Amino acid sequence: MTVKIGVIGTGMIGRDHTRRIQQVLAGAEVVALSDVNADSARAVQADLAPAATVHATGQELIAAPEVGAVLVTSWGDTHEEYVLAAIAAGKPCFCEKPLATTAAGAKRIVDAEVAHGARLVQVGFMRRYDAGYRMLKEAVDNAIGAPLMIHAAHRNPTVPEQYITPMAIHDTLIHEIDVFRWLLDDDYVSAQVVFPRRSKHAHARVADPQVVLLETRKGVRIDVEIFVNCRYGYDIQCQVVGEEGVAYLPEPLAIVMRRDAHLQNAILTDWKDRFVDSYDVELKDFVEAAARGTASGPGSWDGYVAAISSDACVEAQEKSGQIVPISLPDRPALYD
Ligand code: NAP
Repeated sequence: MTVKIGVIGTGMIGRDHTRRIQQVLAGAEVVALSDVNADSARAVQADLAPAATVHATGQELIAAPEVGAVLVTSWGDTHEEYVLAAIAAGKPCFCEKPLATTAAGAKRIVDAEVAHGARLVQVGFMRRYDAGYRMLKEAVDNAIGAPLMIHAAHRNPTVPEQYITPMAIHDTLIHEIDVFRWLLDDDYVSAQVVFPRRSKHAHARVADPQVVLLETRKGVRIDVEIFVNCRYGYDIQCQVVGEEGVAYLPEPLAIVMRRDAHLQNAILTDWKDRFVDSYDVELKDFVEAAARGTASGPGSWDGYVAAISSDACVEAQEKSGQIVPISLPDRPALYD
């Protein structure tokens, strides 16, 4: 069975996921496209999906009979309405992060899915599909004893002028927030943010670097450095300290060279290259579940918890140094 997918939002990631579905993955086809900028949808149609129809609105696309599953890759503040419409139509829906821009919005999606009675939503937390993180999880589950601490870093070479301090949480840390919960099978109880000496490379509206300290229900302590003007590369580090040993996230594959009296290997500079393979695996998971009329992997509940946890981290930025509690509602049985 071929899953017939409609894509809402044909910008950078919408185009790339369309390419993935049309050229990399088996079992799915993009049959419909929509974007507020119709020229963008038509350009993706021309380049990648000539048989797809172009719809004036995302709502119209979701209602189209030829669309069996929906990809939401528009701007974050439009996600909620499209995911709710896909649930109302009973169509499996892959939504890029964030699920919604507020915790209340994410809660509305959880409530709608629970009322529907089965999972329909997958959220684009692709790190869970990364081979390195999967190896790390295997080690955390089976090799290093009970996890006690995580030391991590999320570094970008530079960020544009419009990147402001809270985006370090909503756009950058959001991936760590999800992947640590998954790695540890745990949830957060508090957050604290402290700001070291500011880098001279940080523009006026972003405090950079910053350190986020998270505590989990099981008592694991996590420190994450967010440094978005680190200059030297895009670098994701994660080290889990357990009772019996320490497990490290593998470095991306790179040739090691001995040259000019240096031992060296390249470091990536573009975030798009870092998890490129995991996008293939996550969408394959979506297509396989959608073929069964459902969804798997990170879901609405994870999107909701990420939103609550992010809000607490932003509050902790605003109250720098103070510990901000994180309390979560009970998880509906649908997500057990
Ligand atoms: P982008 O290049 O700006 O693309 C977004 C597209 O959505 C644009 O073409 C935009 O129209 C369109 N759009 C905006 N509002 C719309 C609406 N109401 N209905 C339909 N289309 C609408 O952004 P992007 O980088 O692809 O990011 C899209 C989403 O994916 C964001 O939520 C982002 O956080 C997420 N994302 C996730 C990852 C990841 O690692 N998982 C990576 C990248 C992005 P215009 O043509 O007018 O701009």
